[in-house]
Amino acid sequence: MPANSLEQVRNLCMRRGFVFPGSAVYGGVASFWDYGPLGVELLNNIKKAWWQDTIYTRNDMEGLDAAVLMSRKVWQHSGHEATFSDPLVDCKACRSRFRADDLVGAWIGKVRQEDVRRADTWLRHFQAHERVCAAMPEPLRTAGVQIMQEIQAAHEIWWPLGRLFLKFKDAGDEAAARKMVDDEDARRANQRMKSAQEAHKQFIEQNATAFEFACFKAKEIECPKCGSKEFTEPRNFNLMFQSHVGPVAADKGTDEEKAARVYLRPETAQGIFMNFAHVQRAMARKIPFGVAQIGKAFRNEITPGNFIFRTREFEQMEIEFFIKPPQFVKEGEKNDQQWHEEWVEQRFNWWLRYATSPSATLEDRDATAARFRARAQTPDELAHYAKATTDIEYLFPGSLGWGEIEGVANRTDFDLTAHSNDIPEEDLKRLKLEPNKDSTVKLDYFDPDAKARYIPWVIEPSAGATRAMLTFLCEAYHDEVVTEPTKQQIDQIKSDAAMIRKNAEKKIKEAQKEIAAGREAKHDPAKVEAFLNVLDETVARLPASLTELLTALDHEGAQNLEPVKKFRPPTEKLVEDCTRTVLRLHPALAPVKLAVFPLKKNKPELVELAQAIKERFQRHFRVVYDDSAGIGRLYRRQDEIGTPFCITVDFESLEDGTVTVRERDSMEQERVKIDDLPSYLLPRLQGE
Ligand code: ATP
Repeated sequence: MPANSLEQVRNLCMRRGFVFPGSAVYGGVASFWDYGPLGVELLNNIKKAWWQDTIYTRNDMEGLDAAVLMSRKVWQHSGHEATFSDPLVDCKACRSRFRADDLVGAWIGKVRQEDVRRADTWLRHFQAHERVCAAMPEPLRTAGVQIMQEIQAAHEIWWPLGRLFLKFKDAGDEAAARKMVDDEDARRANQRMKSAQEAHKQFIEQNATAFEFACFKAKEIECPKCGSKEFTEPRNFNLMFQSHVGPVAADKGTDEEKAARVYLRPETAQGIFMNFAHVQRAMARKIPFGVAQIGKAFRNEITPGNFIFRTREFEQMEIEFFIKPPQFVKEGEKNDQQWHEEWVEQRFNWWLRYATSPSATLEDRDATAARFRARAQTPDELAHYAKATTDIEYLFPGSLGWGEIEGVANRTDFDLTAHSNDIPEEDLKRLKLEPNKDSTVKLDYFDPDAKARYIPWVIEPSAGATRAMLTFLCEAYHDEVVTEPTKQQIDQIKSDAAMIRKNAEKKIKEAQKEIAAGREAKHDPAKVEAFLNVLDETVARLPASLTELLTALDHEGAQNLEPVKKFRPPTEKLVEDCTRTVLRLHPALAPVKLAVFPLKKNKPELVELAQAIKERFQRHFRVVYDDSAGIGRLYRRQDEIGTPFCITVDFESLEDGTVTVRERDSMEQERVKIDDLPSYLLPRLQGE
């Protein structure tokens, strides 16, 4: 099982030097992170794997490193200055700030998830949606209200039949249930209900912004922090950080200020478009070819969070792959749709390859594959110029759930056209662009085969490097029981848990009495009850759930329970003795590839040989020497950071020139001749 919460990964990252909070000396600044000694290695290895796989192993790619700061005109003509924004609202009561679309999305999701078997809750949803539609401007108001009234009318007919159907189904009377489905009236009612709901869904999708606005106006949305329904009106907040080139004393918005204004790039892609013609000419490239770039990007996100998933400073790995426009594609050549599909497949396989340790079983591989998906964006999600976009998503643990890790877009000829002068009227109209009077060039290409000039189309696979780090860490994280606890130890845990329950139930009763008397209680009965349920459930799954015991004890309902305090130290000791945390990282990504230990640190001959082995490999990759604890503990420390191999030098090594090589995932040990170490280790470290 990979990580079951982001908290586990975050704790490990901070404890072992992968990620530290930024500016910690001054109390930190929220959602800025520093990458520590192991984090920088892991991030570099991810970027190296991406660079090698997208540039070195292909014949049609070049690399680039463009400046972070570019002319403001780049962002004006790319559309970012006008539209790279998120809708923002402030809670008037507690002043918390939210993305309006997040709050509305959560409200719609909550409404959908509620009990579909209860007519009254459904009716309440429809009425709430009707109130929202009524708050929209005309003509949306009339259209929306009509759709909602049709849903309610359809529901009135469908519900008595639907309820009967569910009743038969629940009673296991399949025949009666099927008869209901086959019944002409029921079928018609069901169909009417479905069409009305579809119309409702489409209405929200097509009028997302107006619907969002109306949700707040109709006071349907509650502040997740304080429950108030009073918000400021949604307003667009541009996500680009601004700065100025040279000293500027002028006020914001004046011509002088605007002339000196620059933005920290919110994506690396525009740097590639700026250099399309340079790279093509300098490297004598013919279409199709691509340019890849890795670099920092900055977005003043309204709600950063989920550790390093969404930050205001992050790194991207982007490709712009330039292809022929459809009208120039000859028979036998790939068209834009085929290139798009090919890139989705390539990139999806890349994620799976590095998310899987070579030692993984078939079952493990299938489980990993099920946590990745390629999801085609729906028409309402697509940018107006994009022909298709597929998001590659990973199922992150906990409430984060499915999250985008890469987008692969067919952006047509939008970008190069947007930055070109001298574009025909019909193309400007097709791409909804204004003539670009600032550009000094037309970014077109002379195709020697077609003997024609055209502006290439673009396929853009765009991934986050720091988000990739979180993805690979979540997938690699495993807590494992390595030594089964004895029956006696398990019985002891069970009896301690029973004692905790007895004490907690007493505390619940006391708290209930206090609350009934209108006094403040020391414990929250619901929280203590929830803790007891978690504890029971964890204890029932012992020994497999051994490591989860500590998480159960951290439950907020366990606070101030005396027996829990007593139970913790022996449980911690048992967990430490019987389990290990291991990062099953692909060896190519592992921050440290090899750790070398002498069996005894007070034997100079062992220490010297161990250090000599380290020196032999350290020019090629990160190797560490460690003699600060017993071998068992040293193995655990390396497992926790994902080191694929550990080498132990012992007395036999001095006699026959062999060492023990221990593999991380299987924990198997092998004697290998020191001279054979390079041929033993190198293919394995490449994941072969
Ligand atoms: P999201 O929907 O998560 O905001 P997006 O669709 O805006 O992402 P893109 O503009 O397509 O993202 O950027 C490409 C990739 O860059 C994303 O798939 C993600 O991996 C990464 N990325 C985008 N925004 C951030 C961020 N704030 N922090 C970390 N990584 C990010």
